[in-house]
Amino acid sequence: MERIAQTGSTNADLLARLAGGERVGEGHWLVADRQIAGRGRLGRAWGDGLGNFMGSTVVHLGAGDPIAATLALMAGVALARTVQTLAPAVDFRLKWPNDVLVDGAKCSGILLERSGDAVVIGIGVNLVSAPELPDRATACFADKGAAIDRDRFADTLAVAMVDALWTWRQTGIESIVRAWLPLGHPVGTPLHVSEQAIDGLFDGLAPDGALRLRRDDGETMLIHAGDIELRRPVEEGK
Ligand code: ATP
Repeated sequence: MERIAQTGSTNADLLARLAGGERVGEGHWLVADRQIAGRGRLGRAWGDGLGNFMGSTVVHLGAGDPIAATLALMAGVALARTVQTLAPAVDFRLKWPNDVLVDGAKCSGILLERSGDAVVIGIGVNLVSAPELPDRATACFADKGAAIDRDRFADTLAVAMVDALWTWRQTGIESIVRAWLPLGHPVGTPLHVSEQAIDGLFDGLAPDGALRLRRDDGETMLIHAGDIELRRPVEEGK
């Protein structure tokens, strides 16, 4: 575990090291106290905060590994297990593929970036603070009654990641899918796929980890990547 006071982006740092020919071993984590140019998917920004977890690690893809895209689910399972261990009283759900939501508010983000046969996995978790954003609800664990020390979180996540990565490699994506399902939103949850502007109901995962969406017109389609928003059931009236 390598801890630094401040950087632009831990993902960018590990990608630069890999591009420079440095061998960054699996299991190594780069963790920053502050991250001033944190990144999300599709060029979006990730807001930091002192005391929150922001760190990145590397997976080196081997010949027999499942397809790299399924690492998104693997990382989600590792993160969820960490939350279960350190905040057992907090009721959270994974939103496919890997956001931790508490009461519908986003508490974490995961960004996977590939460089040759390496995949850099960056994880940001709001432990003590969450930025207020105009476009979505955010939350942090401290506000949900769970005081989690950043270093303890980092150590627990590193162990959970080794474990989930082992499962991904040795027993395949089907085992990760089985682990993911009880952590995720229940079957029947209304979802909105922003990129394709499609509404439907969550219908579980395909064996390869794709999301099964039962569209309002009755067809079931598979979503391999995309923005999924949870739609609140109408009867909740919120
Ligand atoms: P989603 O699937 O929820 O749309 P995403 O994959 O598009 O997420 P991520 O890459 O996980 O997004 O995170 C980037 C987005 O998260 C930003 O566009 C912003 O709306 C939101 N965000 C940025 N910082 C934080 C934070 N600290 N806590 C919660 N949400 C954040």
